[in-house]
Parts: sequence; structure tokens; C-alpha cells
Amino acid sequence: MRIKSMPWVWIAALAAFLLWTTTSNGASGKPLSDGPAKTLIQNAALIITMDPAIGTGPLGTLSDADLLMERDTILAIGKGLMAPEATVVSATGKIVLPGFVDIHNHLYQSIFRGGCTDDDVIGWMNKCNLPVRLRLEEAEIFAGVRLSTLDLITTGVTTVVDWAHLFPQNLARANVQALEESGLRFVFAFSQPKEGWNTLQAFKAELIDPNPLATFQLTAGTKNTEHLAGMVLLAHELNVKVNVHLLEHRNQRQDDPVGALARSGALGLGANLLLNHAIHLADEDITLLGKSGARIAHSPLSNMRLASGIIRLPELHKEGVKVGLGLDGGTNDTSDVFANMRTAIGLQRAKTLDATTFPTVVDVLRMATLGGAEVLGLEGEIGSLTPGKKADLIILDPHAVNFAPQWDWPSQIVFNGQPANVEYVFANGRKLKEKGRLVGGVEKEVITAAEEAATRIRRSLDPEAKPGLD
Ligand SMILES: [Zn+2]
Repeated sequence: MRIKSMPWVWIAALAAFLLWTTTSNGASGKPLSDGPAKTLIQNAALIITMDPAIGTGPLGTLSDADLLMERDTILAIGKGLMAPEATVVSATGKIVLPGFVDIHNHLYQSIFRGGCTDDDVIGWMNKCNLPVRLRLEEAEIFAGVRLSTLDLITTGVTTVVDWAHLFPQNLARANVQALEESGLRFVFAFSQPKEGWNTLQAFKAELIDPNPLATFQLTAGTKNTEHLAGMVLLAHELNVKVNVHLLEHRNQRQDDPVGALARSGALGLGANLLLNHAIHLADEDITLLGKSGARIAHSPLSNMRLASGIIRLPELHKEGVKVGLGLDGGTNDTSDVFANMRTAIGLQRAKTLDATTFPTVVDVLRMATLGGAEVLGLEGEIGSLTPGKKADLIILDPHAVNFAPQWDWPSQIVFNGQPANVEYVFANGRKLKEKGRLVGGVEKEVITAAEEAATRIRRSLDPEAKPGLD
């Protein structure tokens, strides 16, 4: 490299990059040295690798085994691993599994949790979501996203897709900043119809591409087909996914949104088309989606709360459509992945009266981990505990009143698990939850900021409104 011939702007950029790579893990500005080089998770009673090539059965399970990681990468999994230089985390009597992958969320929406609980999605959008959205400033976005990310870490999520609602640039920047500070791996799904492609490309280049934990997707709707078609073209150019809400409410069938996907060229994106909800699908739609290779985010708790309906999961599975699980923002009212998994199973059983219908316990554990990673195209990096993949993993303590005694632990994870059973969370090798507590000590300050932001919004919605319960 001949420094002399480089223009000063390139030298400055190189210096900034070198400084960034040597002082940051790209997640929160905290130094890489905030953890040991190697960590040995020792003597786990059960490791669910989600990799059948490593362990037994479809979940790839190992008993009485260890997992060794170095910085952000899983090095080895097996019995009696030796690493004298490693920091040891005892997992005796505990369960290790991949971190959960939440493939659909709107993280700022925690700011109006509990709102419009007697409305369906259209009432919720009109009475809660839209009025709040019109009043959002950077501080509200930042506070809501930070609160949601802590909630996600509590429940064991290590990757989240955050779908931003056509925010102006300043709000989108605040949103990304809060995601970065969380230490989570994230996908930021965003577009801004009022601004040109250049703005989106510059946003991606500046805020997403330099961060190894971040991925970019483009958002679009099916009503504005001109914008959707534009995003399809840009997605081809950038090789990113287009992320669209589809048929969440039964009345949306009259708008022919599947036809809009076809006309705009979105179905031609194949695996780069990610559809949220996709509840009210006709038989021919399911066939079409199966052929196209499009992928789906299923948010069962949200679908239930908003009276949206029950997705046709067994039929989609039969057509080979890849489906992962999402928590879907404020409408979920909680970031409880365990509740989401058992709801995904329960809705189908209640509908079909068949306890063997898709998804089973194994299916839903896969959907919440490797399946979600596959939907995002990140299965080469995350989703299973495979040497060489990123160290995104959680440790559960099953010795709790809601979980013990041991009978069939994979089933108990789904039917008994609660966020409180998540003892450790590692995202990209970095510890975000330890001994049942969030790392970083920011919990109180984040909750206070969220309370203040929610109070400001409530007051602006109704000047007579009293803050909180007083
Ligand atoms: Zn959504």
C-alpha cells in the first residue's frame, strides 16, 4: 500500500477504520478486550446444537458436553474439551442452545405497550400506531428500541429483524444507534419513499455495512406498487431482501396484494422476498409462494392479540416455504420467545384438532433458531452451534419451579420455558446476560428513559393525560 499516493480523505477513512476495528467489536463501541479470548462452557447436561451432523437426532443433541469459543466464533463442541487458558462457565445441570432468531419486530413500539388492546390490526394502526408515530422524535425511538433490545436479550434472542416504519433519516439513525448499543446481531429493514435510491445506498454504506453484526433489508408495502417495484430493482442491485407485510387482516384480500407482488416483480426475488404474517392465503397463493422461494415471518402472539387469524403453516410447510418466528413489536406486548413458540404450536393444534400437525416441538425449536437464520440467509453464520459459526448461544437453567423436574427437556423448553430460565446470553461471543442478569447495568436508566418518552407522547396525544398511574 503506497500511502503517499493516497488522497487524504482515503488516509483519514483508513485511519478511522483501523481505529474502529482495533477499539470496537462493532456492536457498542466497547473494546474487544471486554471478554477473555477463549470461553469454555463446561459440562452442559444437554447441548442442543441444531446440527444433526454433530449430535443425535434432528436437534443434534449431546449430553454431558462442552463448547469452546474464541472471541466471536465457536471453536469446538464435544466431551472433555481442554482449554487451560479459557475462562470457564460452568453449565453443570444446564441446557445450551443457539440464541433465538426473531425475524420480525418493530422495536420502537415498546413505547406504547398495552395500547389499543381491544382493537384489531386496523384499529390498532389507526388509533395507536399512527398517532404515536407522528409524534416520535429521536429520543423516543432510541428509548423504545433500547427497552425492547433489553427485553429481547432477557428472553434469549441474539438476532433481531427491526422493521422501521418509513422513518425520516434522523429517526432511522437513532434506531440503528440503539440497536448498535444493544450488542445484538440485527437486520435493519428500512426504506423512505420520499427520498431517492442514493440516500438509501448511502445509509446502508455508512451505518450498516461497516458493522459485522448488521444486515440491511429494504421495506415496502403492496399498496404503493410503484415504490415496491422500485425497491425490487434496488434489492437486485444491492443483493438484499425486500421485507413486506402481507395479508395480516382478512379485508386486505380485496386489494389483491399477492397480485401486486407478482406485478411488481417481487416474486422474482425468490429467497430475497420476506413476507410478514401471510395469514389469509388462498390455495393458489401458497402454491405460488412455494414456487417463488419467498420466505415468511410468522408472529403468532401478535396474530392472536390482534384477532388477525391463523396462518396456514402445515400447508406452507408442505409446499416447502421456509418460515421463521417473529415477535412483531408492541402488539406482542412481551418479548417472550417461549410463549411465541408454544403459541405457534397451539394455534395449529386448536385449528386442526391434531396434536401431530406442523409444527411439532422439534419443528418450532428449529423455526426459532436455524429456521429463522435460513429465512434471513444467515444460516452460514448463525442458527446452529457448529464449529466455525458465530458464538450466538444461550444457557438455560432448568432447575426452576416452572421447569423442573427433567422429563423431556426439548419439550419443556417449548411448553415450560420462560425468559427467567435464560441464565446466559452470548451474542457474537459477547456476554449480554450473565447469571440471570443483564450485563451493563443500564436497565434502570433505559426504563426511566422509556417512561419519560411514553409520558411525553401520551401528553401530546391528550394534553389532559396524567402520567403513569398517579
Ligand atoms: Zn410487522
